[in-house]
Amino acid sequence: MFYLTEQFFSIQGEGKYAGVPSYFLRTGGCNLSCPGFAAAYEVEGEVRYGCDTYFAVDSAYARQWSKVLESTVLIKHLKQEFKTIGYNPDVVITGGEPLMYHSDKTFYEVITWLVEEGIQITFETNGTMKINFDRYPAYKSCIFALSIKLANSGEPASRRIVPQALKNIQISSKETFLKFTIDKALVETSAFDEISEIREILPDPEVFCMPVGESRDTIWRNDRAVFEFCMKHNFRYSDRLHIRVFDTTQGV
Ligand code: SF4
Repeated sequence: MFYLTEQFFSIQGEGKYAGVPSYFLRTGGCNLSCPGFAAAYEVEGEVRYGCDTYFAVDSAYARQWSKVLESTVLIKHLKQEFKTIGYNPDVVITGGEPLMYHSDKTFYEVITWLVEEGIQITFETNGTMKINFDRYPAYKSCIFALSIKLANSGEPASRRIVPQALKNIQISSKETFLKFTIDKALVETSAFDEISEIREILPDPEVFCMPVGESRDTIWRNDRAVFEFCMKHNFRYSDRLHIRVFDTTQGV
C-alpha cells in the first residue's frame, strides 16, 4: 500500500526534461521535512513552515491522500488516462519522497508495469533511500533526478546526504542528474562549496540549479542570482515552468 496525493497530466517544469509532456504521480509522505524552505502554511490555526509540497509531506494532510491498495486499480486508471491523452507520456514520480515506497509490493508492481510498457520513468527524489537494485530490477530502467537538499533546507547534513545511497543509484540506474534548489542568500554564501562537496561523492552527473520558490513572487526574488551563479560555475540553469505559468496552483 502506498499513498498518492495527486496525479495529473502536465508538462515537466524543471530539471533536464523541462518542457516534456508528462504524467505525474505524487506520493504522500517524506523522510525529511525541510523547514528551512519556509513555505508557510496553516494547520488548524497553527502556522508551519516546510517545502513547496508541504501538502504531500505533512501528515496533517494525510486524510486527503488516497491509499493505493491494489496495483491493478491504478494501472487500469493509468491505461484509461493514457488512452484519453492519446499516447503514453513520460511518467514522473514525485512527492514527498516516492522512494520511501520502493520496496512496497503494490508500488513496485506499478513501476514494473510502466517499465514493461516502455514508458520513461523519472523519480524525483532526495536521494537518501538505499535501493536494492538486484531485488527490484525495474528501477535499473528509471531516471533519477537527485534533488539533494542543501543547508538552506534546514535539515542536518547527516540526514540529507547519504553517500552510499547516492552512489548506488548512480551506478545502478539508467540515468541520474543533480538538481539543487537554491536562493539568493545561498548563492552569496555556501552554495558552491556545498555543491562541490556533493560532487566529490558524485562527480559525473550534470548539475541543474533552480531558484527556490513556491510562487512566482519568490522565484522572481531568486532567479537572477541563480542564473548568474550557473553562468559562473558552468552549471545548467533550470527554471520552474509550472510555477511561472500557474503560480501557486496545485495539480499542474
Ligand atoms: S525532501 Fe523534498 S519533499 Fe521532502 S520535505 Fe524536503 S523538499 Fe519537501
